[in-house]
Amino acid sequence: MVINSLSIDVEEHFQVSGFEGVVDRETWDSQPSRVVDNTHRILRLLDEASVKATFFVLGWVAEREPALVRDISDAGHEIASHGYWHRLVYSQTPDEFREDVVRSIDVIERACGQRPTGYRAPSFSITEQSRWAWPILAELDMQFDSSVYPTNLRDRYGMGDANTRPHEVAENLWEIPMSVMRVARWNVPVAGGGYFRLYPFWITRSAVRRLNADGMPANVYLHPWEFDPDQPRVSGVGRGAAFRHYVNLGRTESRLRRMLAEFPFGTMRRAYADVLSSPRQAAAS
Ligand SMILES: [Zn+2]
Repeated sequence: MVINSLSIDVEEHFQVSGFEGVVDRETWDSQPSRVVDNTHRILRLLDEASVKATFFVLGWVAEREPALVRDISDAGHEIASHGYWHRLVYSQTPDEFREDVVRSIDVIERACGQRPTGYRAPSFSITEQSRWAWPILAELDMQFDSSVYPTNLRDRYGMGDANTRPHEVAENLWEIPMSVMRVARWNVPVAGGGYFRLYPFWITRSAVRRLNADGMPANVYLHPWEFDPDQPRVSGVGRGAAFRHYVNLGRTESRLRRMLAEFPFGTMRRAYADVLSSPRQAAAS
């Protein structure tokens, strides 16, 4: 039986890359914070469904809300890193990237006593021009990265010719790509974030069925702010970014419940146990 993976990128509603030009990082501390309540909403939902997930926590959030990170890990979920400042990987130098990831690992470990071994780049920004990130993640003892969208339909991210299955990208480091569905000549993103909210549920369901029939788990991702239809609207955002952010926010929760009722889900480590149970991991446990 295929177990699908569910992951949550834990960040505030104003920290998304689409708002980067409008909400300055220097103002983050004075913005209304909603990440704690929204994440607790997800934790309750997962508890009711008896499902464990992987939480890619932004270091900035972990540093300010260490109790939230502890609550996630105490509930038995897997803790991973979403970097510290939510900067696109390819907009940083390799040294800046390393520093950002190290800082996120430190604050997350300090918060919950668990050192993250998985990483997801902000906006899937490991692309053709930022492949140099993988050896750095491997040096930092990361075991998996889930930052590649094997599609070329998007401008901010995507690696059109990337392998759609998990593959080793540096020593002991596995890339676990985001789910796509082949439609004619294109790899169409499915099963996460805006796509999860935008497509009718039957499309997402048939995509998951198709992946599972091929022996592949669906790599489903969501954000705490996607469960918060009442979040304050950020002004000055372009129409495209605003649409992607706000479309169908009121549907996320019920759709996720349906999804969890229809398919088996678990953490990334469980869904991809065949590649992630490396000898080093076995020796350590
Ligand atoms: Zn993010």
